[in-house]
Parts: sequence; C-alpha cells; structure tokens
Amino acid sequence: MEKMLNIVLFGPPGAGKGTQSENLINKYGLVHLSTGDILRTEIARGTDLGRKAKEIMERGELVGDDIVIGMIESKLDENTGAKGFIFDGFPRTAAQAVALDDLLQKKGTGISGMLALEVDDEELVKRLLIRGEASGRPDDRNEGIIRRRIEEYNNKTLPLKNYYSEQGKFHSINGIGSIDEIFRLLVDRIIFLNAEMDLTALETDLEHLDLTIQDFDVADEIAPELL
Ligand code: AMP
Repeated sequence: MEKMLNIVLFGPPGAGKGTQSENLINKYGLVHLSTGDILRTEIARGTDLGRKAKEIMERGELVGDDIVIGMIESKLDENTGAKGFIFDGFPRTAAQAVALDDLLQKKGTGISGMLALEVDDEELVKRLLIRGEASGRPDDRNEGIIRRRIEEYNNKTLPLKNYYSEQGKFHSINGIGSIDEIFRLLVDRIIFLNAEMDLTALETDLEHLDLTIQDFDVADEIAPELL
C-alpha cells in the first residue's frame, strides 16, 4: 500500500480553508474534496440533490449526513490513484467523521492528521461579509445567516476536535495572519505528519523483518536434522 497524505483541513466558515486548500494542492498534488463546492455544483446544475440542499444552505444549516457521506464516497471511488486528499468542510459531524474513517479504512488508508485553522468569531463575520460582496455567495451576504453557520459549527463540528485528539491527530494552527504565514505553518505540520507516517511504515517493516528473521532461526534449527 502506497503512503497517502490525507488531511482534514478544519475550521469555521471563513477560516481560510478554501484558500489554503488551493495552496496545499499545488504543493503536494493532492485531490481537493470540498463538500460545499460539490453542493454548489449540484445547485448550479439544478439536480434534485442541489434543489434539496439549496434551501438548507441558504438557512445556514447543515445538509444531511447521508447526502454528504454519499458524495464523499463516490469522490473517493473516482480518485483511486490519488496521492492523497484534502477534506475541506468535511467531516462536519461525528457521524461524518466515523463514516470517513470507515471509508478510508476499507481502502487500506486513513487520516494522516486534522489541521485546524483557529480564528475568532468576530474576525470570521468580518471576513465572510467581505467575501460575500466579492463572490455574491448568498450565505456570505447576510450577517444573520453567517452567525447561524458559525453556531452550527460551534455546536456540531467543533466537538470533532476531541474525536481527532483522541486519535492523536489534532493539530491547531493559528488562522490569523497573512496567507503566506499561515501556509508556512500548515507546511511545517505536514512535514511533521510525513515524518510520523515514515516512522510508522518503518516500524511496520521492522516488525515484518523480525518475523522473517525468526523464521530463518527456526529453519536453521530444523536444517541439521534434515541433512
Ligand atoms: P462551505 O462551503 O464548506 O462553507 O459549505 C457551505 C454550506 O454547505 C454549509 O453551510 C452547509 O449548509 C453545506 N455543507 C457543506 N459541507 C457540509 C457537510 N460536510 N455537512 C453538512 N453540510 C455541509
């Protein structure tokens, strides 16, 4: 099994996940999976799923777990040869996090780490209102909806910090600063994650080697009697 770099880029709406995902894809050649982008594409195409999701998204609430888990599952299947994935805006609930672990485990891989961009609420509201003016994204143009999204994040998504902490995979990153500064912090963490994965692979190889050596020891003992 080839080593894969699978990163959950975590953080509230407006933390800079999309921007930093772009930078990370360019540097590491990973596949970017943003459930928000996939849903917006469905809306633009006018699919059934898009129509259902649109109303929920415009209220600033979360789309159902089954829908987003199904979307991620098919994207993983479409990208079997990928070097790794950046999950952006997914998982957002405990059920999604468990489903993601299961899906990756079935493919013989797992999450390398969660990198969490930390930004305070008032800064988020400010950033999103500016983004909304430029992009016209409906859920970024209304302060009430922005606050609802942050509330959804605090209630349903923030607890995932514990989920990944318990697996030793949670990494906090200061999300306030220039894009370049924050990117540097992310890259430093990824260097650490890569080293950690190399070490685990080496340990596995050594365990394997140990077994082989034991096998040889046994063969040596048996061999003289056979001669
Ligand atoms: P985003 O672009 O990640 O900010 O997502 C925009 C909106 O899409 C969110 O406010 C949710 O309504 C919906 N959405 C995106 N990803 C998810 C997810 N993983 N689970 C539930 N809803 C999601």
